[in-house]
Amino acid sequence: MDDFIKDFVQCPICGNEFTYDKVSSTSIKVSSYDLDLKPEYREINVSLYSLITCPNCLFTFQEKDKQNIVDYVNKNDNFIKITQFLEYIKTIYNSEVDNSFEKSDEFYRDQLFIATEIYSILGQTLEVIKIMIKLSWYYREKNDEEKELGILYYCEKLLEKEYQNFSKEDDFIFALFYLGYINYRFNRKKEAARYLDYLLKDYKNSSNPYLKAAKNLRGELR
Ligand SMILES: [Zn+2]
Repeated sequence: MDDFIKDFVQCPICGNEFTYDKVSSTSIKVSSYDLDLKPEYREINVSLYSLITCPNCLFTFQEKDKQNIVDYVNKNDNFIKITQFLEYIKTIYNSEVDNSFEKSDEFYRDQLFIATEIYSILGQTLEVIKIMIKLSWYYREKNDEEKELGILYYCEKLLEKEYQNFSKEDDFIFALFYLGYINYRFNRKKEAARYLDYLLKDYKNSSNPYLKAAKNLRGELR
């Protein structure tokens, strides 16, 4: 149990305070990375603990957003929209919420689906894409390529629509890399090369890890 630390959080929707387990930093060990920088964890699958769910209302969010999620929730009419969504989810979802170190893969998958909807309501498109990529990783680990590609297909549609609105350089690099990667996965080599070449030409001096990944992936296309 030393691999995990108990922490707690107050749900920004219903006010319920609850505990969850998070992986202690010394127990995060990566053995390798896939072409798209998906980490292969040794021993503990750290991704599993990146999402937490309120056991009372099912509000689900990324642990890294613990401090600022409340700001997004209270913007415009997000609070009411989220409440309505959660009321609906509660009528169709009856699995047990588990934020402990014993969490199942299936519950993590459900969290990813719920979080995708929640971040979409909150207007956090980049986070929606990142969560969907994690969902594609879930299916990659299960060797379910059909579902993995299905998720990547939706990611691509979102990325194509939104990437030009990403104003931060790192976000833009991330988006272009994934457009290249998804095209590569669908065997559209020319399109993949177009995105990767654009990236490698315009961002030569950035230390963003996706640039190195773009170089590697470009090599795979020859
Ligand atoms: Zn709650």
